[in-house]
Amino acid sequence: MNFNQSPANERILICTDLDRTLLPNGMQPESPRARERFCHLAARPEISIAYVTGRHRELVLAAINEYQLPLPDYVIGDVGTSIYSIEDDQWQPWDSWQQEIGIGWHGLTHDTLTALFTDIELIRLQESEKQNTFKLSYYVASAVNAPALLDEMQQRLDNEQIAASLIWSVDETTDTGLLDILPTAATKRHAVEFLMSEQGYSLDNTLYAGDSGNDLPVLTSPIHSVLVANATNEVRQQALQMATAQGTRDALYLAHGNLLGMNGNYSAGILEGCVHYMPEILARIDEESQYDA
Ligand SMILES: [Mg+2]
Repeated sequence: MNFNQSPANERILICTDLDRTLLPNGMQPESPRARERFCHLAARPEISIAYVTGRHRELVLAAINEYQLPLPDYVIGDVGTSIYSIEDDQWQPWDSWQQEIGIGWHGLTHDTLTALFTDIELIRLQESEKQNTFKLSYYVASAVNAPALLDEMQQRLDNEQIAASLIWSVDETTDTGLLDILPTAATKRHAVEFLMSEQGYSLDNTLYAGDSGNDLPVLTSPIHSVLVANATNEVRQQALQMATAQGTRDALYLAHGNLLGMNGNYSAGILEGCVHYMPEILARIDEESQYDA
């Protein structure tokens, strides 16, 4: 008997953002049984899990420990610049992904690219664990005129014909600007699609879950996606507009709660998305939830 032919045993890839998507570290409450149900589902042999995150490896491990999450099969980390396979606790970085995204940097890596910016006093290199081959990260005083700074840095990259994106954000807890310089090819969406094609997953058996602006390119792509219910209204509206404009509205599900009495936030939203696209999975979630009775 070939189990691969059976829909109940079809391989399924669940890709999820971590912070405020799987991790309940936002303002809204988490339903009591949600994460436990997610863990039970993730433990099934036909289900593979990928964490897709800005976090680097040590911070992914810290989140796994803090929130008692399953060790995933894959991690797309460092804002899409690394992909790892994880087997028997061993993290294996994908050289094929490094080659794929490194093409536009013409042999330069984060440590050689810094030479372009040494005279800019407004920026300060982040710690070495926050850098990787194709991720160059700086701290910037939040008072700085960010658009002008970013323009200047982009100009220097363009002059060298380096295909790089500047990703700007503010850490509001420390009021510090964060600047990542990444290959333009190193996006969450490209990484998820690369993972799918390398591992033989299709649009029919892949799901992506996210909550915020940096998830929008995947949420509004043809990849079946769920926006968890704890997302802000602003992100929800943006996601709807982008998906409608791109003709991918059918591949975007907005979690709203009610699955097994849960609220649709965080892992409850991920499970709700799974059931939306793959209704047959409900029996597997519900079956597992009998442990909780
Ligand atoms: Mg997030």
